[in-house]
Amino acid sequence: MTETATQVERHGFGAEVGRLLDLVVHSLYSEREIFLRELVANAADAIDRRRFESLTHPALALPEAGTIRILPHKPDRTLTIADCGLGMSREELVDHLGTIARSGTRAFGQKLADAKPEERPSLIGQFGVGFYSAFMVADRVEVTSRKVGSDEAWTWASAGEGEFTIAPASREEPGTDVVLHIKADAEEYLDPLRLETIVRKWADHITIPITIERDGK
Ligand code: ADP
Ligand code: MG
Repeated sequence: MTETATQVERHGFGAEVGRLLDLVVHSLYSEREIFLRELVANAADAIDRRRFESLTHPALALPEAGTIRILPHKPDRTLTIADCGLGMSREELVDHLGTIARSGTRAFGQKLADAKPEERPSLIGQFGVGFYSAFMVADRVEVTSRKVGSDEAWTWASAGEGEFTIAPASREEPGTDVVLHIKADAEEYLDPLRLETIVRKWADHITIPITIERDGK
């Protein structure tokens, strides 16, 4: 990624997004491994959507079968979830990750706010917690995305506290990389075997191939 300070644009989270982020990060601590289910589900959706779009626009076809890559990198303490899906434009990064709470996430937030603390873990099985669950295990999240049919790429980045930035980036192929800077108390999520266990438990129904690569970047 290349960027200069002047190209970095700051945005505040939408009010509803800010509340949801807070709720998810602070009420689901005991179940935080589900962040991986949420990010893998988003990657799978993006690949499915690209496949669907390519039925009418063959130029958008997937380069290969379409794989979701999980790349733990211990030296850098990062975990990347990479897909070759539909990708997001600059506007979509701002709207989908920063401004508008998705309907599923909103319904979840309401249920979570209404539930007693001991009921909260069971709620996560019933609702999609969504992208913001990444902040349960990461103190900074960077999403670099290139939309199919475009040669522009953008990076959305946030520490999950009130604001996010958008900056120009580069990505060779369309798709999305979600890079999690793993918190000191969440190092277990850099361990390939631990990640494999979570994928087996929560993402068994996903038909798109998922690879876990050691010390990937
Ligand atoms: P949901 O998946 O329920 O819509 P999320 O919070 O998980 O809610 O994601 C919000 C939105 O961000 C998605 O609906 C999608 O538009 C976009 N998004 C998230 N991850 C990706 C991805 N890997 N590729 C493309 N779009 C994505
Ligand atoms: Mg989702």
